[in-house]
Amino acid sequence: MDVNMEKFTMENVAEFIKNNVDAVLIVDSKADTFKSIFRKGMFESFIEDSGSYTNLIEKLWFHFNETMDKITEDYQVFIPTFGKFSGKYSRRLKIVEDDGTPHAIQMTIYPINDINYMIVLDELDNSEYMKDFFTSEKVTTIQNTYLFSMYIDLVKDTTSSLSITEISDETVHSSVKYSEWRFMIVNMIWPDDQALFMERTDPEYLKKNLLPGRTASFDCLMQNLEGKYIWVKLIFSRSETTNKDEDFRYVFMVQDIHENSVQLMSTLKKYEELASKDALTDVFNHGRIETELYNAVEIVHKGSRKVSVMMFDIDFFKNVNDKFGHAVGDMTLKHFAYMLKDYFKNINAVIGRWGGEEFVVVYYDADADKAKEAAEGVRKVISEEEFKVAGTVTCSAGITEITTEDSFNTAFERMDKALYKAKSEGRNCIRVF
Ligand code: GH3
Ligand code: MG
Ligand code: MG
Repeated sequence: MDVNMEKFTMENVAEFIKNNVDAVLIVDSKADTFKSIFRKGMFESFIEDSGSYTNLIEKLWFHFNETMDKITEDYQVFIPTFGKFSGKYSRRLKIVEDDGTPHAIQMTIYPINDINYMIVLDELDNSEYMKDFFTSEKVTTIQNTYLFSMYIDLVKDTTSSLSITEISDETVHSSVKYSEWRFMIVNMIWPDDQALFMERTDPEYLKKNLLPGRTASFDCLMQNLEGKYIWVKLIFSRSETTNKDEDFRYVFMVQDIHENSVQLMSTLKKYEELASKDALTDVFNHGRIETELYNAVEIVHKGSRKVSVMMFDIDFFKNVNDKFGHAVGDMTLKHFAYMLKDYFKNINAVIGRWGGEEFVVVYYDADADKAKEAAEGVRKVISEEEFKVAGTVTCSAGITEITTEDSFNTAFERMDKALYKAKSEGRNCIRVF
């Protein structure tokens, strides 16, 4: 036997540990407490002498995630092993102090028995190692983009979490059943997306729709660690297997796609707006106001709301064009549309250009009388307005209240007839059918 080795005693080993690691803690998992055996360096202030074990794990965990905010309670189901360890467990943590100073920490947990664990914490101060740890593209990518990952076995109905710092085969035992896990996670999904989540995470759906080796994903809004909703991509990938009818194992990942999705959504919104607006007058275009009319008929069919529709038409508009030219005609149309918008700005109504000098207003929660009153108001302000170049301009309107018996066509025809009546009975007036 080597002479050098013979010199070593238990005391030497204990001393070595004391000199070479930064903290040793003993945990009582049942009582949820820990006690520091010793601690030095950054741990002198970072870790208390004793306290709640769950709080300690949470503190280490969220420092790893670089935020001082508390983990929302719901989110803890994402960490099935939260606070519970069986088997040796070692993980590298990135702890960031309040002033922004980062530390790389190796945390190792040794179960002593069923109840007690020993936690060994050591700051990794080797600058080369730090650089590797903080700049490693792999780690950063996974930390930034994959919020969470786990194995799922649908036959055994089990979940086991994968290491967050590194996607590896090393699984951590977990007691959360997949079937139960779904029902916990669904609470963190944006309410409108919950039905989709339940459909796509359904074991039968996954079995039926994912062949071995295939991957499927869907996007939804989900609460993050701080409880804010962010866009995520939920990805299921079925393991390759030669036994496709009996082996149903999957890797599940949550990817953070928030920044890109928010950008995409605002671009989509802009395009959607452009596609719905009339370029000259900036009110809804024909297609969009037509859709709005169809929807209004549907709303009335449901039975609890009243909706009236009106069509405004500028009187003798052809004369404006003939007298002052097309450009003045356009300017007058713009001005007229602006007056309409202004009149309805605080009213639950939408305005669209039906064509030429005809504008449709869908007025929600208004019966025919209420709509007539509004139309009279519009008629009056228009007739009193001094239009640039064109001077005085008047308009007529036809109104109808949509009934539960109406189709789009019957409602539209009545409104159109009412407008025709207003025109034939002298213009600058409102008629209701
Ligand atoms: P009424 O009182 O019966 O409604 O008479 P009107 O002259 O307003 O009706 P008519 O339908 O005969 O004429 C509408 C005119 O609107 C004809 C067309 O040249 C003009 N017009 C339609 N679209 C535009 C446009 O975008 N710009 C301009 N400047 N004129 C337009
Ligand atoms: Mg007309
Ligand atoms: Mg006209």
